[in-house]
Amino acid sequence: MTVVSPEFAEELKEYGDDTALQCFNCGTCVAICPLVDDSFPRRLIRYVQIGARERILASGRDLWKCLHCGLCSRTCPRQADPGEIILGLKRYVLAAWREE
Ligand code: SF4
Ligand code: SF4
Repeated sequence: MTVVSPEFAEELKEYGDDTALQCFNCGTCVAICPLVDDSFPRRLIRYVQIGARERILASGRDLWKCLHCGLCSRTCPRQADPGEIILGLKRYVLAAWREE
């Protein structure tokens, strides 16, 4: 069962992500992302917003598919900077994996 934690986005600031709550889930980043995935990176950002840390950890390897091309960050209408959110999630996931 996925445990939802609304405080998770606050916790992620420690890893460099402080923009996830600006996302309003428009899907522009999904449309522009060159990865063949119909939900990346928006799905991960939504997980941050609802605090679904177990799902983020389960999807952790997907984060390394990101090319850091910057297209999503340049086109996001809310300046949510999805590319930076992915970087912050990588730091979070690495720290969590080290503790396992
Ligand atoms: S483009 Fe920006 S606001 Fe739209 S879903 Fe992606 S991160 Fe959220
Ligand atoms: S930075 Fe990553 S998530 Fe954003 S468009 Fe490029 S590959 Fe996709």
